This record gives sequence, C-alpha cells and structure tokens, in this order.
Amino acid sequence: MILITGGAGYIGSHVALKLLENNQDIVIFDSLENSKLDIINTLKTIKNFEFVKGDLKNIKEVEYLFNNYRINAVMHFAAYIRVEESVKNPKKYYYNNLFGTLNLINMMIEHKVNKIIFSSTAAIYGKPKYIPIDENHPKNPINPYGKSKLMIEEILDDYEIAYGLKSIKLRYFNVAGADKQNRIGESHVPETHLIPNILKSIANPEKIFYLFGNDYKTHDGTCIRDYVNIEDLAEAHLSALNYLELNNKSDSFNIGTEKGSSVKEIFRTCEQITNKKIKVKISPRRKGDSGILIASNEKASKLLNWKPQRSLQDSIITAFNWIKKL
Ligand code: UDP
Repeated sequence: MILITGGAGYIGSHVALKLLENNQDIVIFDSLENSKLDIINTLKTIKNFEFVKGDLKNIKEVEYLFNNYRINAVMHFAAYIRVEESVKNPKKYYYNNLFGTLNLINMMIEHKVNKIIFSSTAAIYGKPKYIPIDENHPKNPINPYGKSKLMIEEILDDYEIAYGLKSIKLRYFNVAGADKQNRIGESHVPETHLIPNILKSIANPEKIFYLFGNDYKTHDGTCIRDYVNIEDLAEAHLSALNYLELNNKSDSFNIGTEKGSSVKEIFRTCEQITNKKIKVKISPRRKGDSGILIASNEKASKLLNWKPQRSLQDSIITAFNWIKKL
C-alpha cells in the first residue's frame, strides 16, 4: 500500500483522490493541524482506506504506522508551506519539515521501504538566472521554506547512495484549482494563496484583496507565477510513481505549465470569469517573494510522459466553485 503523509491537505488529498479512483490501496497519515477530518470522510466515499492521525515529529507514531501497515511506497506531502512565515519563524520550519522527514525516511530504511515521491518546490531555485527554469538551474533558495525543501532533496540523494532509497522530487510551481466534481478543494487557514484570496474577496465584497508589490521588474510591476492545475499536478504524482516502479531510478522534475501570469492578470481573469469587480489595495512586497517563476516542463514531458491538460480558467472556475461550497 502507498503511504500518503499530509493526505488531508490540499495537494495530498487531490493525489489521494486520484489514487483511490485508480483503485489503489492507501494509508493516509496526517496530524490534521492544518486540515480537517471532513476531507478524509469525503475521500472515504470514493473507496475505503486507512487513516492514521499522527505527527511525523513523533517517532512512536511513525513507528506504529510502519509496524501496522504493509507500506511499499511513500508520497510525502506533510510540511509547513508558508514562505513569509518561514522567514519570520525559521525554527518552526526547520524543526517540522526536516525533523519530520528524517523520522519518516529513517523509518522507511528500517522497514526496507525504498520508494518515495517527495513534494519539493520551485522555491529551491531562488531568484531565476533564466526563464523558463529547468531542473539544472542553480539552486539558491531565498527563504527558509525553500531551504528546508532543498536540504531534504540533498538528504534524499545521500540516502540513496548509502541506503538505496529511491526518490522522485517533484518541484511544484504554483498550484491552483480544485477537484472538477467539487468534492474537495483548497482550504488553508489562514489563506495566503493568490487565487483563493482573490476569489474570497469576490465572494465577500467586505474582504479587501491585498496585492503585495507592484514595483517588481515585470511588464506590469506585479509578480509572475506559473499556475499548474491541481488535477494535472495529482496526475504527475501517479506518473512519477509509475516511473519509479518501472525504472527504479531517482530523479527530479519541475511541474508547471511553461506559462507565466502576473498577479494583475490573474485578478483580471478572476473578474472576467466571475463577472464581478474586486477591491484591491496595493501593499508592500511580501518577504521572500521572487519576481518571476516559470517552469520548463520538458523533462517531465519526456520522461514522465506528463503534460498539463487543464487551463488557468479551469483552475479558477473549480477554485471558485469550491469557495462557494465552503
Ligand atoms: N499575492 C498577493 N496577494 C495575496 C496572495 C498572494 O498579491 O493575497 C501574490 C504574492 O505576493 C505572489 C503571488 O501572489 O507574488 C503568488 O503568491 P502565492 O502565495 O499564491 O504563491 P507563492 O508564489 O508564494 O508560492
């Protein structure tokens, strides 16, 4: 069975949904610190599976998991993910993201589980030296969140040499959207991501949308990001696991669309789709933000046979349906 850490979270739950729809056996391990049991219950309506509430920082709970379930591969999503918070509170990020992962992979080795798909991030590259960013781009993360993810990538490489642990690192660019059938979606508390924040301002006209920085060196002064649809991203995980099982070879892949959208372009598209106006307040730059991040997905396309199938519009429409449901 496949262990999914953080399987009640935004990305983990959408990957779990795809695995369940593919009739795979899974066990979800999640602390529910930043997610809700409702998501687990919704996923169980698709196909029953095991859920263990626990924290990777607690070695006893990790041991219980590996002693009680026949795990043969791991998808590791559990992590803290807020860039700005990581700048203000690096202790929290290094402790949780590194220590939790070490407990997990040490237990994997002990139990001879040698396949892991790891949630990495475009934030490991830092300020782009060229665009689109490919996997060989220099890695100079500019915030503790990105650094914690890069450190784990490097640890995974060392663990392969010493213990034969095979890993696929998927470096996500910006993820957006929700399940097309509106069963699950994105619900961070507090919400810090661009598209849900814009859509929340649309759903609640009292809520002002704060635009962080309009003095970046981009065509309209606002940050450019590459928004990949959540279902496309989930499918990349299934391809990655398949690749690992077939080739038994570690590798890393950027997961993005090769298309950039500025913050202003995103909110204009949101206004068009919803046919509503948004109240915007220009605010200072957010700490730790890069001006532009766009992926090259050539390697994922060649080796994983993965290409994004859904548009930015699809992501915004499904995200809005989910927010209305909330
Ligand atoms: N952003 C914004 N207002 C918000 C949330 C985000 O202006 O309420 C900007 C943010 O500064 C960045 C872009 O939108 O330039 C994408 O931010 P998000 O947090 O969605 O993803 P990140 O790129 O940080 O992973």
